[in-house]
Amino acid sequence: MNIQVHRGLSQIGGCITEISTATSRVFIDMGQNLPGVGEPTTDGQDQQIVDELYRNNKKEHEAVVYTHAHEDHVGLFYHVPSDVPQYIGEGGKELLLAKYELIKKGHEISLNVASALAKKYGKPKHKEGEVLVNAEIELDNKKLNILKSFKTWQRTKPHAAPKSFKIGDIRITPFFNCHSIYDSYMFLIEADGKRIWHTGDYREHGYMGKGLVPTLKRFATNIDVLITEGTMLNRTDECIHEREVSRRMGSVMDAFKYVIILASATDIERLASIKEAAKKVHRQLYICSGYMRRTMQIFTRREAELSKGLFSFHPRYVNFDDEKIETMRQKGFVLVAGSNNLAFAEELSAEIDPSEVLFIYSSWDGYYKDPEQVKLNPRYKMFRDAFSNVVDIHTSGHADRKTIEKVIDIIHPKEVICIHKEANAKL
Ligand SMILES: [Zn+2]
Repeated sequence: MNIQVHRGLSQIGGCITEISTATSRVFIDMGQNLPGVGEPTTDGQDQQIVDELYRNNKKEHEAVVYTHAHEDHVGLFYHVPSDVPQYIGEGGKELLLAKYELIKKGHEISLNVASALAKKYGKPKHKEGEVLVNAEIELDNKKLNILKSFKTWQRTKPHAAPKSFKIGDIRITPFFNCHSIYDSYMFLIEADGKRIWHTGDYREHGYMGKGLVPTLKRFATNIDVLITEGTMLNRTDECIHEREVSRRMGSVMDAFKYVIILASATDIERLASIKEAAKKVHRQLYICSGYMRRTMQIFTRREAELSKGLFSFHPRYVNFDDEKIETMRQKGFVLVAGSNNLAFAEELSAEIDPSEVLFIYSSWDGYYKDPEQVKLNPRYKMFRDAFSNVVDIHTSGHADRKTIEKVIDIIHPKEVICIHKEANAKL
């Protein structure tokens, strides 16, 4: 049995790990380099990277298996040869489909708007622009078709025996994980009499993190090789529990009539922390992102019952020219927004005394602190700079050093490989 880490040993994201036997081969994740991390690659270069992995080296049984739906783990999926099956958790597939459907819709809208404007002003259509957008839509369709073909597994119900699947002579068992995106997994991989434990991205300090230690104690036994992430090894951020995130949010929300929070649409636990905080201070929760509306529907349908309501979301959706805006200005609000929603947040805050608005920044601080990140995507910093009362309340989606050490202690593997970490980070 062979393990080859193609990317991720010296960078956060862009993960590709290969596990193979004489007849079978599985890639765990096929990730895109994160913006600002590792070499930036074009679409053509990404295709080349994946082609290279498969050139002259095909096995009888092949698959790609994804730990979760973050782009730095799944982003190269559409470059994978069409005869190679790809696997992901059922919830992860739903998140990806929702995302790529919305991207396609955005492209279609821009095409329609451009053509309507040209007609209105009697101008000829911008042919080159139209060709480019049509090419994007074609690529969107390709991505959606591939995503629809993804094979899935369902999360094992609590206390039920875990279910495995086989790619040739490689057996894979997924275990539900706690991370900053819904439906993340660790894997037990068995091949040639060896046992590998791949953690994916994980943490213990979230609501679902309480399953980490019991799962490892029960299933991560006799492990030869542990492959763990090490995102936080060079970071000193304090990893408070999600419950504490919620408590801190509740206490600051109480002092302001108007609260706007920047958070990720796919982070089920953070959205639950915000929802619980708003409930505690008896404030109506609003959202303004179509994607967040969609992900919250997915979370609620899939998880409301099992989580006894923690992951049940029923916010009010509001957008431009909505009658609800006046009510919000009168009664106060807690609005969760994504990084694309600055224009709406500003519209909502117009005619409100700025001193009465609190902005809670609940994302990774590198997005506004790191000049390279700001250059690549200025929206986080622009959002933060648009408000005068700002507070950061966040905790990482990744395991801190203490947790990584605890995991190694519990599993006690013969060998540890640390991926998803900076080049100079050491265990
Ligand atoms: Zn991740």
